[in-house]
This record gives sequence, structure tokens and C-alpha cells, in this order.
Amino acid sequence: VELDPHEARMVEQRTRLLGPAYRLMYQKPLHFVRGEGVWLYDADGRRYLDTYNNVVSLGHCHPDVVEAITRQVATLCTNTRYLHETILKLAEGLLSTVQSDLSHMMLTCSGSEANDLAYRIAKVRTGGTGVIITETAYHGITDAVSQFSPTLGTAVPLGAHVRTVAAPAAYRSGPNVAERFTRDVEAAIADLKRHGIQPAMLIVDSIFTSDGILSEEPGFLKGAVEAIRKAGGIFVADEVQPGFGRTGSHMWGFQRHGVDPDIVTLGKPMGNGQPIAGLLTRHDVVEKFGNNSRYFNTFAGNAVSCAAAAAVLKVIRRDRIMDNARDVGAYLLERVSALRSRHDCLGHVRGAGLFVAADIVSDRETQANDRARTTRVVNAMRDNGVLISACGKDHNILKIRPPLIFSRENVDLFVDVLDEALAV
Ligand code: PMP
Repeated sequence: VELDPHEARMVEQRTRLLGPAYRLMYQKPLHFVRGEGVWLYDADGRRYLDTYNNVVSLGHCHPDVVEAITRQVATLCTNTRYLHETILKLAEGLLSTVQSDLSHMMLTCSGSEANDLAYRIAKVRTGGTGVIITETAYHGITDAVSQFSPTLGTAVPLGAHVRTVAAPAAYRSGPNVAERFTRDVEAAIADLKRHGIQPAMLIVDSIFTSDGILSEEPGFLKGAVEAIRKAGGIFVADEVQPGFGRTGSHMWGFQRHGVDPDIVTLGKPMGNGQPIAGLLTRHDVVEKFGNNSRYFNTFAGNAVSCAAAAAVLKVIRRDRIMDNARDVGAYLLERVSALRSRHDCLGHVRGAGLFVAADIVSDRETQANDRARTTRVVNAMRDNGVLISACGKDHNILKIRPPLIFSRENVDLFVDVLDEALAV
């Protein structure tokens, strides 16, 4: 791929200065200098439609969030060892969105840290160490969490205390996804016990993003949650991806499934770009942990991050962001699905709110995954000014995840560019 000299120099510098662990997106990397709403602008002033960003889910540089951060950073930035109104307002606001037995909020700086903390709490609460996840899960990068994040790559081995279950993909495995998922979780529990390992938690991303965005049929988690509880473990809903209204119908992905988690972990869109994440839990779940160890995290819950998160919650409610996610999401799903009649390579299409997935296949009958074509589609769209990515075990599933302020007009542009890319 031809890079212009300036970009080539930045790529070289990056490799030299940041080392080998970082990855760039796209065959031809992008260099953005500004963002606004659903748009990102590169150094040449070209604009790109951001159909991938679930961090700035209210749109880039949302004015209310910018204002809240600016005001707070110019006033005071301290930590959770002092009294502060905003963290209390944030806790009340978040806890009002979940079932009433979840009564505490704890804050971290990242989703990884939130899951790490959830695991520590789960271990103290249950006396176990065993973790059950789906086969292509991603939960984060700490030492403990990377041991239950198989998508980090084969160089990061799963822990001996970790068991994986098949992704609950109803469109591939046929009906009875609930029965199958429950049976798989029960088998994982039995296998842990056979190895002398007491289960601590079942943790799932409640829309199964890295497993391929498995949005249907909601309701299949119930039996698995009952099974882990019966075995003495707890259920953790990782809401880093589906949370904060993305699915349109519910604030949290687990609510679509009609289950009550013991811990809910939060991240990405929580501060619309500010590093704030955390968890919600019941008193009895965290009681022993809290009585036996203090929890202080220097930056987590600082006044500026809390101001950002409080502004996000306010805007979600005030601007009826979930209604937009539901309505525009339904239109997006309908338009992408309609492309199936024009492109044989488009396999199963599914979604919930503004979270849509489309399989790219070489054969619709056998649903044979086409990773190479998926890569071509993603890069062709980038060349035509639209950003998306891919997920799933074979990286053949288009991951369509725009900011929640996406409009029907944005959908029309997106679909035109996708239509063209699928024909390549
Ligand atoms: N859980 C899920 C489901 C995620 O998608 C991610 C991030 N992609 C994380 C946890 C980790 O969050 P962070 O990158 O903020 O540590």
C-alpha cells in the first residue's frame, strides 16, 4: 500500500517509539486531527463517517460533555477520598437504571479494570477461582482478565481455571439456543469441578460482540445464570459494548435477556471518551471484599471523569438517545438486510438498535466465512470515507456500531458505500 511521505514517517516513528505491541487499523492508516458528531476529519481535511465508534456514543466532542469537562477541570480535580457531589449524583443516576437490589457503584479507569475488580470480588464472595466465558470473548488486558480474553491471541494462554463455551449463535446452530447454552455452561461447571476448581463467575458480554454480535433471540441467558448460581458462582454482565442504550430497547444488554446480574461492568461510552468505567453490584456480593480490603484507585472517579459521565447520562435522557438508537437502528438493519438481494456474499444480518452485524460468506448455503473478502470490504469502505470493522472467530462479520446520534441520512450514505464495497 502506497503511503504519502508524511504518513510513512509517522508509521516508522510509531513503530520505533511505541514498540511492537500496538496495531493500526486499515491497510492504509488514518490520521485524524478533529472530530465532530458522526464525523472524523483527517489531516487533509477529508471527512469520514464514523460508523464504528462506541466510545463517543453521543458523537465526537459532544458540546454538553465538553462543557461539563471544561467547567470541572477549571474548578477542581480530586479523588474519591474527599466528599464530592458529582460522584454521588452519578451513582444515583446509574443505579436508577438497574434492578433495585444493585445498590453500589464502584469506579475504575477502564473496562479491563472493571472486569478485574469484578473477578476479585467474585473470588472473595464465592471462595472459587473458576471463570466461564464464550469461546471468542474479550474482557480486557490486565493479567487476570487477559487469562479469560481468548481474542488477545494464542500467545496469551487461557488460565487453567478458565473454561469456554460455544458462542450462542442461533442463526448458525438452529433453534434451542437457550437449552444449548445452558447445557454448555453446565458442562463447563462440571469440568471445573472435576478438576477441583470451584466456579467463581460466568461472565458474558451481553451482546457477544467479539463472538460476532449475537443479538438474537434475547432471553437465552436465563438457564445459564441459574446454573452458575446453583454451582455457587456469580453472574457478571459485561456491558462495556451494549450498555448505555446502544440496543435502543434497553439501557443495558442484560435487560433484553430478562436476567438480574450479580455484578454489571461498565466502560467505553460511559464518559463519551473520558477514561471512566466501573461496576454496579449488590451489597451482599461486595460486603466481604469491602470489609477486608480498601479500594482506592487514584484516577478513577476523579471529579472531571465523573462530570463527563454525569453529562452523558443527562444527554441520554434529555435527548431521547435510546429512541434514536431504536428507530435509526431499525432503519439501518432493514437497509443492510435489503442488500442481501443484490449481493450473494452477504450472509446473515442481525442487530439490536445501533449495533448491527452482517456475515460475509463465500457460500450462503453452508455459511462459509470469507475473511479475505471482509478485509477488502472494510478497506474499500475506508477508502470511500466510511469507517467500520470486523469481528467474530474468523473476522468475517461486519461490525456496524455508529454513535447513537446517527441519522437516517447517515444510514443512507453508509448503505450506498457498503453497497459499492460489497460489489468489489
Ligand atoms: N469488555 C468488553 C466487552 C470490551 O469490548 C472491552 C474493550 N473492547 C473491554 C471489556 C475492555 O475495556 P477497556 O479497553 O476499556 O479496558
